[in-house]
Amino acid sequence: MIGFGDSPDGSTPRCSRAGCGSAATAAVNWRNPKIHSADRVKTWLACDEHREYLRDYLATRDFPVVVTALDDIPAIVPAITPAITPGGAS
Ligand SMILES: [Zn+2]
Repeated sequence: MIGFGDSPDGSTPRCSRAGCGSAATAAVNWRNPKIHSADRVKTWLACDEHREYLRDYLATRDFPVVVTALDDIPAIVPAITPAITPGGAS
């Protein structure tokens, strides 16, 4: 029987972490610069618990990664840039 208004399938985004079925609260947007062009964005969904885990997983591989809200997925993931120092000396 198909429920109405309370069925999680297809309506609630789920965390991409293997084995985690929690509702996703953030989008982890990334690409592999070795195989993806700059306009390619891969998106994993993450719950509160795994947002940092997934971000770190990608960051430690030197992949550009940007964490956003689920409804604010970026068109591109900028390449990793050196830390920006406000009013930077040059
Ligand atoms: Zn999760």
